[in-house]
Amino acid sequence: MLWQAVEHSISQALDCSFNITHTNSLSGGSINSAYRIDDGDSSYFVKLNGEQGLSMFEAEAEGLRELAAAKAIRVPEPVCYGAESGRAWLVTEYISFGRQGSHSAQLLGEQLAALHRNTSEQFGWYRDNTIGSTVQQNSQSDHWVTFYRQQRLQFQLDLASRHGLSGSLQDKGDRLLADLDVFFSDYAPQASLLHGDLWGGNCSFDTDGNPVIFDPAVYYGDREADLAMTELFGGFNAGFYAAYNEVWPLHVGYQVRKELYNLYHTLNHANLFGGGYAAQAESMMDRLLSEMKP
Ligand code: ADP
Repeated sequence: MLWQAVEHSISQALDCSFNITHTNSLSGGSINSAYRIDDGDSSYFVKLNGEQGLSMFEAEAEGLRELAAAKAIRVPEPVCYGAESGRAWLVTEYISFGRQGSHSAQLLGEQLAALHRNTSEQFGWYRDNTIGSTVQQNSQSDHWVTFYRQQRLQFQLDLASRHGLSGSLQDKGDRLLADLDVFFSDYAPQASLLHGDLWGGNCSFDTDGNPVIFDPAVYYGDREADLAMTELFGGFNAGFYAAYNEVWPLHVGYQVRKELYNLYHTLNHANLFGGGYAAQAESMMDRLLSEMKP
């Protein structure tokens, strides 16, 4: 039933019939189950989740379109999304990933800087999306610090409170958010088009060695937020950073602000997965609070 519905959805989107001959389960995703489907001629990449995942997939398809329109880095082309019988799906172009070539990391750095050159008048996006499976609010704002305070950190802290993470985490969060402007005293970011969830698992290279980014959480924000996340779980080499800085050098204050930006993802991990992430977030807040002292 499910695969018939997916076949029908693809056939409608492509205006021709698509009959699945093979499905292969893929590993590597953290939120959805992933498959490669084939009809003997062509292949597609499919993500599946429960029916409630439909709006997440719709936002992901829109995010991929926004990134593709910038013509800076290769992204999988979205084909269709839908839901039926308790399941939701997103179908995109299937991309065969290859080995990283000698210039691949450099290309990724250059292309990410080119992506970030696409700017908007306002921070945020025209719609909300998700970060992992958590809602990510993107109401548009003229002020980056206000946007980041309310829609990124405060949102995650409120969620943490509802998950029972109270006490010192919230106290430190309150103190940090009250004086967030301190980190921006000599820096006014532009509203750059961001991937939004750029860790090593959401980036690869096609068989020609060209960078590919996928699974985005798109919005317009400080480009440092994308760079910071590349450092959170590793996976990006020195050539990547050198190439990025060659095209568009980072401000010296990035070294401090990157912790502020990764605090958002660490709080999100505490909300999604629990474990040691709350303690890690608190240590990050301690370091940021100590940076705030005159
Ligand atoms: P999740 O939303 O569950 O985190 P991902 O979008 O990260 O899932 O995809 C899971 C895995 O599938 C990735 O780690 C990657 O290896 C692979 N993948 C993602 N997109 C494609 C694609 N368009 N073509 C081929 N493989 C893909």
